[in-house]
Amino acid sequence: MEKVEVLIVGAGLAGLTAAIWCKRLGLHAVVVEREREIGGQLQHIKNEIWDYPPYVYENGLALLSALKENEQVGRLDCRLGETLLSIDDNKRRIHTDKRTYEAEYVILCTGVRPNSLPALHRSNMVLAPWFSTTSQGEVLREKNVLIIGGGDRAMESGYNLAAYARHIFIAVRRNRLRARPEWVRRLSACENVTIMLNTELARTSEHEPKGVFLRTAGAPSERFLAVDWILPRIGVRGNSEAVPFLKTYGQQFVEVDSFQVTSTDWIYAVGDLTNGAAYASLALAAGQAMKAVKHISLRKKEGETNVHL
Ligand SMILES: Cc1cc2nc3c(=O)[nH]c(=O)nc-3n(C[C@H](O)[C@H](O)[C@H](O)COP(=O)(O)OP(=O)(O)OC[C@H]3O[C@@H](n4cnc5c(N)ncnc54)[C@H](O)[C@@H]3O)c2cc1C
Repeated sequence: MEKVEVLIVGAGLAGLTAAIWCKRLGLHAVVVEREREIGGQLQHIKNEIWDYPPYVYENGLALLSALKENEQVGRLDCRLGETLLSIDDNKRRIHTDKRTYEAEYVILCTGVRPNSLPALHRSNMVLAPWFSTTSQGEVLREKNVLIIGGGDRAMESGYNLAAYARHIFIAVRRNRLRARPEWVRRLSACENVTIMLNTELARTSEHEPKGVFLRTAGAPSERFLAVDWILPRIGVRGNSEAVPFLKTYGQQFVEVDSFQVTSTDWIYAVGDLTNGAAYASLALAAGQAMKAVKHISLRKKEGETNVHL
């Protein structure tokens, strides 16, 4: 059993910022991260990042490498390859796959993961969840691509890939699009894009003829569509499975109050885990991390009962 003042789970931008703020405010923090590298989604951002002031970064790895140059980051106690499994709410014990911690406070910064479709679990036609339609579109030149989803990301992906692919098909389960009208307008100007409403993926055909079988509401049978690649854009869900006792909303995103406190008062949550897709951003993750740590620091100073902020 290891005692820590603040246990931070996840070493994406939210977790790293929380750890830096713990250093600044004199709190002893340990960060556990299930991957072998820090950075979280920064590892996967291929687009230019120009909305996290003051610099413009070529991509997520460029931002991460700048972060690693900060000598405070080098001094953080980051334990890589260690996964949070569960939390015992009554005993304040946190179980990972490596050890058990007793913590005064926990800050959950575990981010999100893309939703997946059971019909695609064994398919070789699926593009990776972090496939970048801005910087990797070239590999789909002259290919037929099926995008699944009716939100902004699906439409934006369709628009970006229309410049490369032979044809883009977009399958939308509902009878309408959730995406902003601006994306729909842009897409309707692309001649090589077909949007199919009320349409679901039934199964894939991995060998010749390669493609998918689609089920459309009201149609008597499934129909075959020849495609080379499939890009699911069906949203994300919070990585909150280790804390089933916390209140959540939407797709397992953790509910917090205005100081980032969850429904359990010694557990905080920051970053994408609590913001969901609509508000996912580096700036918000970093700001929330600061607020959570500051709140912990003030609570400790003021004896837990009389927090004035
Ligand atoms: C393609 C793409 C482009 C983007 N572009 C921009 C942009 O231009 N500007 C912008 O502001 N935002 C952008 N974003 C959003 C931004 O990257 C996220 O909002 C931000 O990185 C979220 O940080 P986070 O720390 O909350 O989560 P993450 O970065 O997801 O970090 C979560 C960490 O927790 C770890 N973890 C999860 N579960 C466990 C567990 N059980 N135990 C231990 N560790 C665990 C994960 O391995 C991960 O390292 C983009 C995102 C993507 C995917």
